[in-house]
Amino acid sequence: MSSNVEPAQYDPENIFAKILRGEIPAQTVYEDEHTLAFMDVMPQGPGHTLVIPKAPARGLLDADPASLAATVATVQRVARAVKAAFAADGLTIFQYNEPAGGQTVFHLHVHIVPRFEGVALGRHTGGMADKDVLADHAGKIRAALAGV
Ligand code: 5GP
Repeated sequence: MSSNVEPAQYDPENIFAKILRGEIPAQTVYEDEHTLAFMDVMPQGPGHTLVIPKAPARGLLDADPASLAATVATVQRVARAVKAAFAADGLTIFQYNEPAGGQTVFHLHVHIVPRFEGVALGRHTGGMADKDVLADHAGKIRAALAGV
């Protein structure tokens, strides 16, 4: 077993940093001063949404506590809207840290997946979703956030 003496550093070229800088597109559902929420391109179920802080952090352990608090507040807000938008029976909310923990994108993010009785959770980073379907799902969540 190897010991990690030097913790891995934040890489500003990660894909979510690029989304934050507007360098690559995302189906955004919510944004405020500290956080952004958008659709996962390889959803583990319809409505799979990601919430990220705007402040750089690789994962939960190196995040600034205030940024983390803002992220959790956005997770709750968006999770309520996701559940309503998809008339879900429940939600699975999860967050991975480092490759050994299952993380594949190294900017802190929290997954929100609507769940339905008797329906299994889809595979992590399985197939790419159709762009139009993701846009439709994002619209549903934005409408729920607006109380429509
Ligand atoms: P992790 O394994 O790091 O917790 O999850 C990263 C998530 O980001 C995966 O669920 C994956 O589908 C998603 N993802 C990877 N690349 C992109 C991308 O370019 N755009 C969006 N919206 N999601 C991405």
